[in-house]
Amino acid sequence: MREDIAISRRVVLHFPPSLADKPIMCRLAKDFDLEFNILKASITPKEEGLLVVELSGAAEDYENGTRYLSGVGIVIQPLSQDVIRNETRCTHCGACVVLCPPGAFVIDPVTRRVEFDDSKCIACGVCVPACPPRAMEICF
Ligand code: SF4
Ligand code: SF4
Repeated sequence: MREDIAISRRVVLHFPPSLADKPIMCRLAKDFDLEFNILKASITPKEEGLLVVELSGAAEDYENGTRYLSGVGIVIQPLSQDVIRNETRCTHCGACVVLCPPGAFVIDPVTRRVEFDDSKCIACGVCVPACPPRAMEICF
């Protein structure tokens, strides 16, 4: 029986140079019925393509679509693996709270600590230079 639970995931796609000009994302929409929202796109110095996308659709379509991506040689990582807060360095100063466009940082009203919700992050990079102790890292 078909699994129709809807899911949405933010992932980082690493395209090898040989695939950088192929209509891979179109196939995701056409053949796997997945919606994608591109949050960031760039080419690395090694000519590797990098896309930060939000993929949405039925769970089964998501599984089939990401299997297709892996099969053609695209490396997929959850965005939360690539945007990291170094908890040892963070001083909970709050400088990032007002700067983060999607509001991924929230001050806990009880503890006054700054909580980081990586599921909201869109990898814009604003927090990296704005963080006084350089606690925020983007690994791509
Ligand atoms: S700006 Fe840096 S140190 Fe300050 S709360 Fe945010 S992550 Fe922590
Ligand atoms: S990279 Fe951008 S969206 Fe992600 S936590 Fe930092 S400021 Fe917020």
